[in-house]
Amino acid sequence: MSSELTGSDLPHIIVEPPGPKSRALAAELRAVESRNVTYVAPDWPIFLARGAGANLEDADGNRYIDLSAAFAVAAVGHSNPRVAAAIGGQASILLHAMGDVHPSELKIALARELCALAPGNGPKRVIFGLTGSDAVESALKTAAVATGKPGVICFEGAYHGLGYGSLEVTDRDIFRAPFRRQLGGFSRRLPYPSESDWRASARTVEELLRAPEGAEIGAIIVEPIQGRGGVRPAPVEWLREIRRICSATATALIADEIYSGFGRTGRWFACDHAGVAPDLLCVGKGMASGFPISACIGVAEMMDRWPESSGEAIHTSTFLGHPAGCAAALASIAEMRDRDLVQRAADLELEIRPRLETARSSNANIVEIRGRGLMWGVQCAGGDIAARAITSALRRGVIALPCGPLGDVIAIAPPLVITKEQLNHGLDALLRCIA
Ligand code: PMP
Repeated sequence: MSSELTGSDLPHIIVEPPGPKSRALAAELRAVESRNVTYVAPDWPIFLARGAGANLEDADGNRYIDLSAAFAVAAVGHSNPRVAAAIGGQASILLHAMGDVHPSELKIALARELCALAPGNGPKRVIFGLTGSDAVESALKTAAVATGKPGVICFEGAYHGLGYGSLEVTDRDIFRAPFRRQLGGFSRRLPYPSESDWRASARTVEELLRAPEGAEIGAIIVEPIQGRGGVRPAPVEWLREIRRICSATATALIADEIYSGFGRTGRWFACDHAGVAPDLLCVGKGMASGFPISACIGVAEMMDRWPESSGEAIHTSTFLGHPAGCAAALASIAEMRDRDLVQRAADLELEIRPRLETARSSNANIVEIRGRGLMWGVQCAGGDIAARAITSALRRGVIALPCGPLGDVIAIAPPLVITKEQLNHGLDALLRCIA
């Protein structure tokens, strides 16, 4: 292991990844973890040992630039000292409270912060969770309780998580097919809009909601920018139109900003680009920069349709409002504010966009580039091209991940603290690997 990891370093590869330690660990893991989970191949994975800023280091001592923020989580950087200190400090005082029974007061501070940050001016309320899927399921249940209608419109390419509620609105056969007969069947899936067809798409949504078959639909769930679906931004005009339609038909608008939220797109939330306030906002990932905590933030008119808890909360979980998670999120949000990281994501778009545009016009392997702020997708001419580029970038010390239903899109979603030098170095290496 190298002695220091500053977080703003360039890659340093001392043994071709995955090195001998990573490969030995992969074999050990294979023996004890269910085989459907971690993909193990001769060239994959590396085992992560340390992180700082935009750097990760593996078990063999190789240092990488992380263009993925580890699934768009490490917004304020890996093992951010302020976040780590908040977790450590809280852990030594009170690690675990009693979520919906005898909570810790950190739950109030974080809920206040989230209600203030979420788009829209009216009063809001929060339901905490641990995973993104938890937040989505809180939103789906809230919409059902508030509207009295079970149906939900969702979109092709959507990824909302893999719990049975969130899986119902997630697209992609690979996730759904084995469990189809156990899914609730409450969703109606429509095509996700593009710049050229957004008017027709909005019309289809409105016609469905106003048709007899739409009478049982109470919610629309949408990612303002699809993440795992291949980094596909919804047109802002479409989002505004969907907001209008939801208001006109008393339908709950659920925005899933688990990927796109907390500064990733250069605004606090991707909905802010459209000036749209959803009724229910799902957040997770970058909210605490690495501690598992998520939330559904909803307008009071809807949230207050839940019956008041009688002592037996009808939607809760053991670790709800976890003190260390709340402390981590509060520290991460404070760090984002103090270092103006949302603006930084907007500024770095000006570095990324021209570089990707140049690459697209000169590199036949790149079909399209899409994104905003520090959330980009490079669509390659095939899944094999993307996979090869990702593996060779790893060997050069750059971590990137595939997305899109065909795995043909390379996601670029680095920590918001990545330095310009790191970003340019990472992009250079990745784009060379795509060529
Ligand atoms: N929604 C979106 C938009 C996501 O990107 C993800 C995770 N990739 C989820 C929901 C599910 O989050 P989790 O994996 O934490 O359950």
